[in-house]
Amino acid sequence: MSAPGRSQALTPEPFKGEGSPVSAPGRSQALTPEPFKGEGFPVSAPADDTALVALEGLRKAYNLGRPNEAEVLHGLSLRIARGEFVALIGPSGSGKSTLLNVLGLLEPPTAGSYRLLGRETAGLDDTALTRLRGQALGFVFQFHHLLPAFSALENVTLPLLMRDGRVDAAAEARARELLAAMGLAAAAGKRPGELSGGMQQRVAIARAMVGAPPLVLADEPTGNLDRHSADEVFALMRRLHRERGTAFLVVTHDPGLAARCDRVVELVDGQIVGDRAQTQPGP
Ligand code: ADP
Ligand code: MG
Repeated sequence: MSAPGRSQALTPEPFKGEGSPVSAPGRSQALTPEPFKGEGFPVSAPADDTALVALEGLRKAYNLGRPNEAEVLHGLSLRIARGEFVALIGPSGSGKSTLLNVLGLLEPPTAGSYRLLGRETAGLDDTALTRLRGQALGFVFQFHHLLPAFSALENVTLPLLMRDGRVDAAAEARARELLAAMGLAAAAGKRPGELSGGMQQRVAIARAMVGAPPLVLADEPTGNLDRHSADEVFALMRRLHRERGTAFLVVTHDPGLAARCDRVVELVDGQIVGDRAQTQPGP
C-alpha cells in the first residue's frame, strides 16, 4: 500500500502545538483571559493551556439559518487532561455523538471555544483541521467501518497512509505490534469478513491507536457486541490507557462500563448535568 514516490511531498510538517511555548505550563497564567474582575468572577476555570481538551461555552446547532435550525449543544464547558479515561453518558438524543463529532473536528461548533492540545480550533482551515486531527485524535465507532477488501493490517495502517502518504517499515511494524497487543497477531492478513465482531472492533481500536494519538474518541464502541466481547474490548482500551497513557472519551449506554471509567460526564438535552470522578480498584 505504500507509494514511495509520493512520500516526500505528502509528508506533513510535524505539528507544532505539542511542546511549543503555547502549551508550556509556565505560560498558562499569562494567557488567562479574565478581563472582567467584577463580583462573582471567574464563572469558569482559568484557561489551562496544558489541557488536552478545553471547551468554553461551546454551542452546536444544525441547519443554521434554516426554519428547522435546532441547537443541540447549549454552551458546554469541559476540560479533559492528558491521560484521562472518561465515560460520556446520557439519554439517546442528548447530543453525545454531536459532541464527539465536534471534539473530533468533524463538525464545526456554532459558538464558543474549543482548544485541542492548547490550540484554538476556531478559524482553522480544512488542511489545518485534517493535520490536527491526524496528530491528536483516534476514532472508534459503534460499527467498525473497516474496509472489507483490505486486510486487518492494511486497515490499521490506513490512517498513516492518509496522514503521511506512505506506510514505511516502521509504521507497518507499529501496526503489527498494535494488532499483537490486541491479541490479533495471527489475524493481520485476514479480511474483516473473516473475523468476529469483537475481533473487528479490536482491529478498529488498533487503527485508532496507530498514530499514537493523545486522545481516542469512542462512540459506543461496544454497543454492537455481545457481553463477553464488549468486556474484552473495554478491557483492552483500559490497558492501552494504562500502558501508553492514551486518554479516552468513551460514549456508553452501559452503566457497568461507565462504572469502570475514572470519570463520568453526563449529558442531558445538550447540557452537562453531571461530572464526577470515580476511584477504580487496582488492575
Ligand atoms: P446522542 O448521540 O446522544 O443520541 P446525537 O448527538 O446523535 O445524540 O443527537 C442529538 C440531537 O441532534 C438529536 O435531536 C438529533 O436528532 C440531532 N441531530 C444529530 N445529527 C444531526 C444532523 N446531522 N442534522 C440535524 N440534526 C441532527
Ligand atoms: Mg449517539
